[in-house]
Amino acid sequence: MKKIMIDLDRTIVDGGYLEVLNEYLGTNYTYDDIDGYFVEDFLPQEQLDDYLEYFYNNINIYDYTTIKPNAIEIIEKLSKKYEVFICSAYLDKRVPEKSGVVTNNKHMWLLKNLPFLDPKNFIFTSRKDIIDCEIKIDDKVGNLKGCGEIKLLMDGYHNQDYTEEDLKERGIIRVRDWNEVADILL
Ligand SMILES: [Mg+2]
Repeated sequence: MKKIMIDLDRTIVDGGYLEVLNEYLGTNYTYDDIDGYFVEDFLPQEQLDDYLEYFYNNINIYDYTTIKPNAIEIIEKLSKKYEVFICSAYLDKRVPEKSGVVTNNKHMWLLKNLPFLDPKNFIFTSRKDIIDCEIKIDDKVGNLKGCGEIKLLMDGYHNQDYTEEDLKERGIIRVRDWNEVADILL
């Protein structure tokens, strides 16, 4: 069986971070207002520190995320044809001492929502490039390195700068949703 590495955040689930930030600030920002990967990056340093403190002490991000349409059903089908690994980064380099909280939240989410997968196939690391799988699905281009055959980039607000030409050079195919993943892999 070929091995597939599938990312969690912004690949299987969507949203959450901006909703939490808006709740905290009392604002109505949309993703059009956001430039980088971390939605809170524009905050001045002191306010950012306070926000991260609040976030990691109070928030389980998976209470705020939504599952992308058909993701679970299609992953279950993939798991019959491939060996499926979920690989998710947990480390927030800005506050490494808080990052273990995130690992637990991710682990609990995976157990609940992907019960058909063996938990030993859950991988928590930011070094996804060292994982050697034939197929990778992720919303970050850098995470698709170290992959032998098929690299699928899940479309997202933060990866729009890559043109189809850029992606072609890297051997990457952009997919807009899970139905497109199914068309390619099932
Ligand atoms: Mg991701």
